[in-house]
Amino acid sequence: MKLKIRKVYVDREVADFPETMDICRRIDRPVQYVEDTESIFRYINSNRDPQSAGKHSLLLTRNKGDFIRKCPGTTHYTCCNYHILHIGSYCSMDCAYCILQAYFHPPLLTFFMNQKEMEKELNVLFSSRNVYRLGTGEFTDSLIWEDISPVAARLIRLFAGQERAVLELKTKTASVNHLLGVDHGGNTIMSWSLNTETIIKEQERGTASLDDRITAAADCCTHGYPVAFHFDPMIWYQGCEKEYSHVVEKLFSRILPSDIVWISLGSFRFMPQLHEIIEKRFPRSHIVHGEFIRGLDGKMRYFKPLRISLYRSIVKKIRKIAPNVTLYFCMEDDEVWNKVLGYTPSAYGGLSNILDVSAAAHCNLSI
Ligand code: SF4
Repeated sequence: MKLKIRKVYVDREVADFPETMDICRRIDRPVQYVEDTESIFRYINSNRDPQSAGKHSLLLTRNKGDFIRKCPGTTHYTCCNYHILHIGSYCSMDCAYCILQAYFHPPLLTFFMNQKEMEKELNVLFSSRNVYRLGTGEFTDSLIWEDISPVAARLIRLFAGQERAVLELKTKTASVNHLLGVDHGGNTIMSWSLNTETIIKEQERGTASLDDRITAAADCCTHGYPVAFHFDPMIWYQGCEKEYSHVVEKLFSRILPSDIVWISLGSFRFMPQLHEIIEKRFPRSHIVHGEFIRGLDGKMRYFKPLRISLYRSIVKKIRKIAPNVTLYFCMEDDEVWNKVLGYTPSAYGGLSNILDVSAAAHCNLSI
C-alpha cells in the first residue's frame, strides 16, 4: 500500500524529531513547515472535494491529547469496552461508506510523531491490574502508514513483552509481509474487514481484493498470529446473502476456525451528514438510497427486521462451518442478539467479558 502524498505539512513542534526528518526524506515531496495547523485545515476545507484533498496531503504533528482513548460507544447499544490507540487519522483508501469523511474537520492524513509519549502511556497500561483490548484501526486503517513509518512493527514488539493487553491491527490492505517475522508473542491480532466482491469493487476504492486480504490473513496464521474478521458494514442489496455466504466459504477455505479470535458483524449505518458527502463523491453509489431509520445514537440504520435477517443468514453459514468461533455485534441491542444468536451478552458476563475470554484463549493475555 503506497500513500500518494503530494505535499507534506510539518508542525514546527516536531520538525526536529529524527523520525520526522526520516519520513520527509522517504516521501520526497514538497514540505511546508507550519506554526499553526489551522491554516492548513482552512486550505483543505476550501477545496472542492476536501475529502480527496486530505488523502493526498500529510500532516506530521504531535498528538496533543491522549493516545489511548475509550471507544465512543453509546449507552443505547451493547458496547464492547474497546480502547483506541490513536496513532494518526484518516485514510488513503476511499470507501463510499467511510465515516471518517464526515468525522474529521477537515479530513486530512495526520500522523503523530510523539510516539515516545504513546509508549509511556502504554507502559502505564501494561502495569495495570485490568486487561485491555486496543486497536489502531478506528480513526485510520492500521497498516496504511507502513511505507513511511515502522509503527506497526514497533507496536507489535511492545505488546509482545507483557500480558495485560492485546493489540488489534485492523486493515483493508494486504501489506503484511514485513510483519510476518516480527516477534509478536501472540499478543497482536491481525484483523481484516471483509465484504462481498460486489461491495469491494463498487464501494471500496483502493482497497485490497477479497482474495488478497484472505491470503494475507492466512500468511499471518502461518506465522502464529491470531486473526480476526469484521463483516462491517454489511450492506443490503439484491442477492447479497448469497454473496456473503460465498465470502464465508472463501474465508474458511483458507483459515482455521481455531486461529480466529473473533468475528464481528455490523450493518451499514451512517451519520446523516455523510449522506450528502456520499452522493457528491460517489454519484454511482446507491448505498444511501434504501430505507433507513434514525437510531437512538442519531445514526441512520436499516430497519431492525432487515438487519436481523441479514445477520441470521451469515450467522447460519458461519455456525455451520465454525460452530465455536466467537461472534459479536457491533452496536446492536439485546433483541438483535437474542433473535440472531439466541442469547444476550449478559448471559456470559457481558460483551467485554466474552471478548476478553476469547482474547485470553488465543493470545498471551492473563485474565
Ligand atoms: S479502509 Fe476503512 S478507514 Fe480507509 S477509507 Fe475504507 S472505511 Fe475508511
